[in-house]
Amino acid sequence: MILLFIGPPGSGKGTQAKIVSNKLDLVHFSTGEVFRHMKDPQIQGYMDRGDLVPDEKVIEVFQKYIESKKLHDNLLIDGSPRSLYQYKKFKKIFSNYKQSIDKVVYINISDQEALKRLTARRIDKKTGKIYNLITNPPGPDVDSKNLSVRDDDKKEAVLERLRVQKVPRDMLEAIKKDGILVEVNGERPIDDISQDILSVLKKIK
Ligand code: AMP
Repeated sequence: MILLFIGPPGSGKGTQAKIVSNKLDLVHFSTGEVFRHMKDPQIQGYMDRGDLVPDEKVIEVFQKYIESKKLHDNLLIDGSPRSLYQYKKFKKIFSNYKQSIDKVVYINISDQEALKRLTARRIDKKTGKIYNLITNPPGPDVDSKNLSVRDDDKKEAVLERLRVQKVPRDMLEAIKKDGILVEVNGERPIDDISQDILSVLKKIK
């Protein structure tokens, strides 16, 4: 089985990808994680600015990864594709291995919800620990005077990230046309979302 998980920043796609890959015994491949580990200053620059990594680079890294690990099946790709071009390339890569993408799971949340979640991040200036007022609130031992908002989590920066990283309409249309789009409402409890995704996927196992 080959699955792709997509959604705007803050949608919780990484969390769902972990749960679903564990349940279905798939290899979880997050393009964002791989980019972070590469420690390539140019790639890091794109990420720090909230920009997308250029399409060609994404495809190159992805192709190298699956070839080096001989991974052509039982794969859950989290965070890609992020453009129509990437989607077409992914389809081509898998068809070269006589495989096809089974489903693309799109976790949808509104801009308002994404903004609420992403601006709720706080950093403790003393300990360097990161909290989220909604999903991972600081305990009573944390002095709220030490909590601050990072520049890239301020409202203007988050709005820019959401604008740049919006799931593109043309890509969604192409996935829908291929009959493999599974859209789920991401503004619900984590378990409810996983249940929904798993019940759709059960039918193709
Ligand atoms: P994520 O962990 O999926 O939010 O990804 C973190 C960052 O990696 C994103 O903000 C992008 O800069 C970059 N990234 C990850 N996957 C892709 C992709 N498929 N295309 C372009 N940029 C990506």
